[in-house]
Amino acid sequence: MAELTPIIQLGNPVLRQKAAWVDNVSDESVQQLIDDLIATVAKANGVGIAAPQIAEQKRLFIVASRPNPRYPNAPEMEPTAMINPKIVARSTEVVKGWEGCLSVPGIRGLVPRYQAIEVEYTDRYGKLQKQEFTDFVARIFQHEYDHLDGIVFVDRLENSLDMITEQEYQNRVVNKT
Ligand code: ZN
Repeated sequence: MAELTPIIQLGNPVLRQKAAWVDNVSDESVQQLIDDLIATVAKANGVGIAAPQIAEQKRLFIVASRPNPRYPNAPEMEPTAMINPKIVARSTEVVKGWEGCLSVPGIRGLVPRYQAIEVEYTDRYGKLQKQEFTDFVARIFQHEYDHLDGIVFVDRLENSLDMITEQEYQNRVVNKT
């Protein structure tokens, strides 16, 4: 059974640590962690969550883009566990877009990210996957990847004026579209 797990919040030093490589994907504890993360991200209306956000220092995250009240325009995809992920190529184009984080509630930031990336990761069945992601899904990948290195999206803001509250974001961005 998947369990909902508390999400640790900005300021907790655990969020700033570097996560460790996952050696054995088929291990029961890793499979349980994946199920817990998928349940937790769905319940929180997130589009991604990284293991360090529930205090598990493992290089593993879930990308789970789907439209929800926090991201009404997100593309729909199956929640996917990405283990020991790597970015192997990056576009020259960088785009700024709004991000939030389940560990930074109430805040949104306009974050520059590569528009397209080529990635490799191990899936939950132990198979190496090579994929290209663009736009919003590429953004989620880069955001979650940062969590594995102890980086939070507010670190990537170019200017403190690029940070607004969730309520202002809802007024400005969501209700306008
Ligand atoms: Zn986050």
